[in-house]
Order: sequence, then structure tokens, then C-alpha cells
Amino acid sequence: MKLILATNNNEKSREMQTILSNLGVKVLTARDIGVSLDDIEETGKTFEENARIKAHAVMKKSGFPAIADDSGLIVDALNGEPGIYSARYAGPGASDQKKIEKLLSRLNELNSTNRQAHFVCAICLVYPNGQEIFVTEKCYGKIALSPKGKSGFGYDPIFITESGKTFAELPREEKDKISHRGKALSKLAEVFPNFNKN
Ligand code: IMP
Repeated sequence: MKLILATNNNEKSREMQTILSNLGVKVLTARDIGVSLDDIEETGKTFEENARIKAHAVMKKSGFPAIADDSGLIVDALNGEPGIYSARYAGPGASDQKKIEKLLSRLNELNSTNRQAHFVCAICLVYPNGQEIFVTEKCYGKIALSPKGKSGFGYDPIFITESGKTFAELPREEKDKISHRGKALSKLAEVFPNFNKN
């Protein structure tokens, strides 16, 4: 069975392919099969709604089962910002560095000692017959005072995990074990084999 990943983010797609390849399915990205994601608008109000919009759009365009994640960072002192707007926090197309700078400066302005934050990952898998699987997972941590580490993507350099290291300082396999996306994919892998695909 082929499963199409509705993402153009190379790091996300690597994380998803690593875990899903153990399920005995052929995992391809939308780009691999020439399907564009450019016209898909994330108009949902929740991570789940946006994951569903992306998965359905790619399933319809490709005719294959499709899987999408919508994820983001929730910072307690910022009333949940950037949340579902994590990718667009510093404006469309802004670099990860700009997003990190904006988040750190917003926290500095507040002068708050509360650095609590968590990542959320909602995954939707949809089959051409409309059947859906949803999983959502979280990963709790703190926002660093300044970026540390070189691996990963997005807010990884400022997200301190329970180990005391940022996501960007952890080897990839370590991040996959504890991350919101890693946990959501593992949960998906548990329910997937028993799911009625017909
Ligand atoms: P999405 O592609 O609409 O789900 O955007 C998610 C955004 O949240 C990404 O562009 C990143 O900025 C951020 N994000 C999600 N997951 C992670 C992660 O594992 N590490 C760092 N940033 C993440």
C-alpha cells in the first residue's frame, strides 16, 4: 500500500518516513508524486482541523491514502502563541531564525519567568473511501533564553526538553523518541495495522 505524506518540510518528512516505513507501507511525499501543496489553505482553527484539511486535499489530488500532520508550539506566558500560527509567526516565508527572534523578544518584553511550553502534533490519515484515523500528542518543555544546537528545524534550538538539552542538541533518534511527532506516529503505528482499510 502507498501512503502519501502531505508535507514539503524535509525534516518533518524524514521523521515521518523513519517511523512509518516500519509499517510495511511505501511512504512517498506529495512532491515525489508531483502533487503540489501550494494551493492548500490551512484555514482550520485547531491543529486537528488543519491536519484534516491537508490530508483530504492530498488524498483527493493523488487518489491514494494520505497522511498530514499539523504541529506547533504553545508558549504558556504568551497565552498559547504561536500555536497554529507557528509556521507563519514572523510573517509568510520568514526564516526559522526570524520566528525564534520574534518569540524570544515577545517573552523578553513580558519579563516573565514562566518559560513553560509544549509542542502539539495532530496527525490525520485519510483513505480514499473517506475513513480517517486521528492521533494527537504533546511534548512538554521550556523556552531557552537563547538558541542552542544545530540539528532539527523550526523552534528546535530554543525548546529545552526534560533532558535539559534543546531538541536541536539531541541526536535525531533521541528527538524522535520523545517528540510530539514521534509519539503521535508511534501511536498511529499501533492503531494502523488493525484499521479497516476497505
Ligand atoms: P505546519 O507545517 O503548519 O504543521 O507548521 C508547523 C510549524 O511549527 C513548523 O513550521 C515549525 O515552525 C513548528 N514546529 C512543528 N514541529 C516542530 C518541531 O518538531 N520542532 C521545531 N519546530 C516545530
